[in-house]
Amino acid sequence: MPQIVLENICKYYNGFRALENITVTIEDNATTAIVGPSGGGKSTLIQLINGLVRPDRGRVVVFGEPIDYNDLPRLRRQIGYAVQGTGLFPHMKVWDNITLLAKLADWDRSKTIKRAECLMDLVDLSRSLKDRYPHELSGGEQQRVGLCRAMMLNPKIFLLDEPFAALDPITRDEIHGEFLSLQKSEARTVVMVTHDLREALRLARRLVILKNGMIIQENTREQVLRNPANEFVKSLVHSQLENWSLDDIR
Ligand code: ADP
Repeated sequence: MPQIVLENICKYYNGFRALENITVTIEDNATTAIVGPSGGGKSTLIQLINGLVRPDRGRVVVFGEPIDYNDLPRLRRQIGYAVQGTGLFPHMKVWDNITLLAKLADWDRSKTIKRAECLMDLVDLSRSLKDRYPHELSGGEQQRVGLCRAMMLNPKIFLLDEPFAALDPITRDEIHGEFLSLQKSEARTVVMVTHDLREALRLARRLVILKNGMIIQENTREQVLRNPANEFVKSLVHSQLENWSLDDIR
């Protein structure tokens, strides 16, 4: 059974249709990117997976069971979630931000230290930053702390909502590289929202293209580039990928 399955999902906000009849199975241990214009329902879709959003119709099956909305903490311990702007606690030091979930889960000290240091090394975050507060870090460093925090409990599923959007291009490029090496060393099921098709193609194997609450195309990145489902996908690809070819993602 795949880890994440969405079945016939509809979601309305005050009568406004945010998602219409969404059915999709997310590939295990690979990265899937949700792309499409703003307001298309991308964040709503990703938040269905950790129960932050509850569907009006249909069901969300995670780890083989429909989500139990009466026991969301249990689900969320197994799902890392990182959002744009990092969501770090400003009054807590870097180390405390990173290890917060381990503390809540009652991990012992040596296991916590080992895991946190291993993650800091993986994302190339200097240990000398442990005692700083988030506002004493650069944007790229804050983002790395956010990644470490979300990965702390080694979640099987990792949800990323525009996590790199606020970074300058060079830092974003570096963090993309670190994300890919993290996936190589600890492959997990990642669902990421992005409005940047280049980012999606670099990081994800599969794409879900969402517009006005509907899935326009869902396939591997190669298939989307080779066989865009319709004019909308074609123009999305053309507008964002000038002078680009499949070779750029190999
Ligand atoms: P995207 O992530 O693609 O920009 P969202 O999932 O955030 O799209 O939003 C989809 C639509 O639902 C938008 O029109 C947005 O205004 C609306 N929406 C999202 N969350 C809420 C909410 N909590 N209350 C009312 N409308 C919402």
